[in-house]
Amino acid sequence: MSLSKPFLFRQQALIGGLWCQADSGMLQPIYNPASGDLLGHVPHMGAEEARRAITAAVEAQKAWARRTGHERARVLRRWFELVLQHQEDLARLLTLEQGRPLAEARGEIAYGASFIEWFAEEAKRSYGDVIPSPQADKRLVVIRQPVGVVAAITPWNFPNAMITRKAAPALAAGCAVVLKPAPQTPFSALALAALAAEAGVPAGVLNVVTGDAAAIGEALTASPQVAKLSFTGSTAVGRKLLALCANTVKRVSLELGGNAPFIVFEDADLDAAVEGCIASKFRNNGQTCVCANRIYVQDGVYEAFARKLADAVRKLRVGNGLEEGVSLGPLIDQRAVHKVEAHVADALAQGAQLVQGGTRHALGHGFFEPTVLVEVTQAMRIAQEETFGPVAALFRFQSERALLEMANATEYGLAAYFYSRDQARCWRVAEALECGMVGINTGLITNEAVPFGGVKQSGLGREGSRYGLDEYLELKYLCFGGQ
Ligand code: NAD
Repeated sequence: MSLSKPFLFRQQALIGGLWCQADSGMLQPIYNPASGDLLGHVPHMGAEEARRAITAAVEAQKAWARRTGHERARVLRRWFELVLQHQEDLARLLTLEQGRPLAEARGEIAYGASFIEWFAEEAKRSYGDVIPSPQADKRLVVIRQPVGVVAAITPWNFPNAMITRKAAPALAAGCAVVLKPAPQTPFSALALAALAAEAGVPAGVLNVVTGDAAAIGEALTASPQVAKLSFTGSTAVGRKLLALCANTVKRVSLELGGNAPFIVFEDADLDAAVEGCIASKFRNNGQTCVCANRIYVQDGVYEAFARKLADAVRKLRVGNGLEEGVSLGPLIDQRAVHKVEAHVADALAQGAQLVQGGTRHALGHGFFEPTVLVEVTQAMRIAQEETFGPVAALFRFQSERALLEMANATEYGLAAYFYSRDQARCWRVAEALECGMVGINTGLITNEAVPFGGVKQSGLGREGSRYGLDEYLELKYLCFGGQ
C-alpha cells in the first residue's frame, strides 16, 4: 500500500494500547472493491478479545474521566490536527477499501475531522444546572457525568466520519470506547486509532476490535460494564442489537437506514432541483443513509425534470476512484450489486420505464451504470426499501396532499428533501414530513453543527451538534439538605 506515512496502514487491532492479533491467529482478508485486489488483512477476533477490550476500557475510563474537560479538549484538538495533516493518506486508504472517488474521500476526512474539532470545543461546555428549590432549606444541583464505557459499531459507507461522530463526543464527555468497525473498511478505523494514540489519547480509551461481528456484538451488548451502545448501520441489525441491549438495560443510540423522499413541486427552480438531486442521489454512488431514494415530481414538470436529470446523469463518469475526474466508484460488493439489480428488475417488471443505465458497467466488479427510471410507483420495492445504489427512481404526483401521504408511507424517517419557491408551502411541507432532517431547496444537509438522526425505524438519538454530547452523558441530581 503506497501511503506517504506507512504507519497509518495498520493490520492489527488495538486493545489497551497494544496492537495485537486474534487469539486464534485467524486473519480476515480485505479487498479493493474497484479491482478485487487484496489490500491486506486484519485479525479475525471474537468474544474473548472483545471482553479484553472492555476490561481495558473500564480501567482507562476512570482516569480519563478524572481529567478536566479542558485537558480532554487539548488531546482531541491534537487528534483533529493530525487527521487533517494526514488527510491525503487517509483519503487514499478510504478510496482503496471503500471505492468512493478520491475527491469525495478527502471531503469525508475533513467532515470526519470536523466532529473531532467540534467536540473538542464542546468538551469544555458540559454545563450542569442549579434548580430553584421549592424548599427553603435545600439547594438543588444537576451535574453531568460520562456514561462510562461505550460500544461503537459502525458501517462501511462512511468508514471515517461514522467513527469520529461517535468517538469524538464519547471521548469529550470522558467515556472510553470499544469500536467494532465494518468488516469491509477496517483500515480507516485503525488509521484513525493510530492518530488518536499519537495525539495523546491514553491506552485503553479508544480500542478497535476487528473480526466476527455477531460474536463481538454479543460480547459488547451482554457486558454489564458497557454502559452504552452507539450503532450506525442497517435497521435490521439495529433491531437485533436493541433487543440484545435490553438484558443489561443499556443506553442505546441508533443511526439506521433511510428511504428519503426527494420532492420537486411545480413551482421549483428545476435546474437547482436537478443539481440537488444529483448531489443527494449519486454522492457515494447512492450509498448514503440520507440519499434520495424516491424522487417525487409533480405532474406539470415531470417530463422536463426527467429530461434534465437524465442529461445530467449522462455526464457522470464511472471508474476507479483513484483516477482523476471520476464521479462514481464501484458499489461496495456483489451483494450490493445484486440488490440494485433486483430493484431495477422489479420496477421494470411492474411497469417502470428505463431512461438511462440499468445494468452493470463494462468495468465489471461492483461498477454499475448510473440509472434513471420513470413512472415508478408505490407498489415497487424501491418505494419501501433502501436501494443503496445509483438509481434515480422518479415517481409522479398530482397534489401536495397525495404527495405527503406517499412520502410518509414508509417505516423509515431519516431525511427528506423538497424544492419549492412558495414560502408558505416550505413551512407546511417541512412540518408535515415524518423525518429527522429536511433539506429545503438543497440536496446536501449534513455538517458537524447540526443534529443528525431519524425518527420511526431510522433510529434513536442524535449525533453531532450540541445535542450530540448529551448521548454520552448522564444527569445526576444532587440535593443539599440543611442549608
Ligand atoms: P450493517 O447493519 O450490515 O452493518 C453495520 C455494522 O454492524 C457493521 O460493523 C457490521 O459488521 C455490524 N454487524 C452486523 N451484524 C451484526 C451483529 N449481529 N452484531 C453486531 N454487529 C453486527 O450495515 P452496513 O451495510 O455496514 O451499512 C449500511 C447501512 O447503514 C444502511 O442501512 C445505511 O442507511 C445505514 N447507515 C445509517 C446512517 C445514519 O446515520 N442513520 C449512516 C450511515 C449508514
